[in-house]
Amino acid sequence: MTSFIDKKYINLVSGQLERFKWKSATLANCRCPICGDSQKNRTKCRGYFYEKSNSFFYRCHNCGFGSSIKNFLDRVCPSLLNEYTVETFNESFTPRKKKKEVKMDFRPFASKKVGKVKAQELSLLSDEHPCKKFVAERKIPEKWHKKLFYTDNFNDFVSILIDDSVSYPEEERLVIPFTDKDDNVYAAQGRRIVDGETPKYFTAKSKEEEKLWFNLWDVDVNKPVMIVEGPIDSMFLSNAVAMVGSGAITDLPERLQDAEIIYVLDNEPRNKQIVSYYKKLIDSDKKICIWPSSVKCKDVNDMILSGMDSEEVEELITQNSFSNLEASLKFNNWRKV
Ligand SMILES: [Zn+2]
Repeated sequence: MTSFIDKKYINLVSGQLERFKWKSATLANCRCPICGDSQKNRTKCRGYFYEKSNSFFYRCHNCGFGSSIKNFLDRVCPSLLNEYTVETFNESFTPRKKKKEVKMDFRPFASKKVGKVKAQELSLLSDEHPCKKFVAERKIPEKWHKKLFYTDNFNDFVSILIDDSVSYPEEERLVIPFTDKDDNVYAAQGRRIVDGETPKYFTAKSKEEEKLWFNLWDVDVNKPVMIVEGPIDSMFLSNAVAMVGSGAITDLPERLQDAEIIYVLDNEPRNKQIVSYYKKLIDSDKKICIWPSSVKCKDVNDMILSGMDSEEVEELITQNSFSNLEASLKFNNWRKV
């Protein structure tokens, strides 16, 4: 239980760290003092302090140096080392009054796997929390805050819940869970919420899963179901799923087999991959939204951010969904835009 002492010493040493900055309560970033970081680019900051199991650690993504705070001080600021050692020693032998800083209460949620998952429902976070701010900036509707999670260690989250042998950065992420019909999490996307050099999205899943369906079990299959490319896009539509991953674009999961489907792909006529998806769907007689030329936004989230509301976007989709010959004609116009 030394994380608050670690944090104190990180702050004490931060004065001699170039471009030091707290990115969140548990993540700080600076230029690496061990390797000196990039010499070409003086703004590159690849040193990270992060919290794990109630202690802070340092790691540089440039030179790979990783250490406890104690060893970090030993290398970078030996004058603080003695004081640090005494303080952490006392801490471990003195019963302490309640900590001022409230530790997040991580509660486990429905899962096949046993283990305490370090994740928190977004609806339980304060509005000031960086993850909450992230979803607020994207205007993600509040009803979704109960279904999304924040984790301070995506790798931990995945290793406990998901059958995935890949390791991920031990950093905080917004977690978008994929659940089966019993509400068990079987896959998850981790979206980066602070600036950084790691990929924006990670998708953790078992090897056997080819394509993942977000929100599959919560859509009403007796009403038209919209299929979009991104889970976040699906959150703005009243009855939508998102398909993520590889596999034939026309393949549907059993649950959607008899439903009326409208495909709503990104509005990117310059993207060869996406254009080929449109073509495949039209060739297979699927109903698909062909965005009118008046729409400049590239996806549903962008449309919402540009000021449209959910009903307007849905109306636009409904009015511009076609199949067969009509779809082909509209598609040919769309790709010339
Ligand atoms: Zn380094």
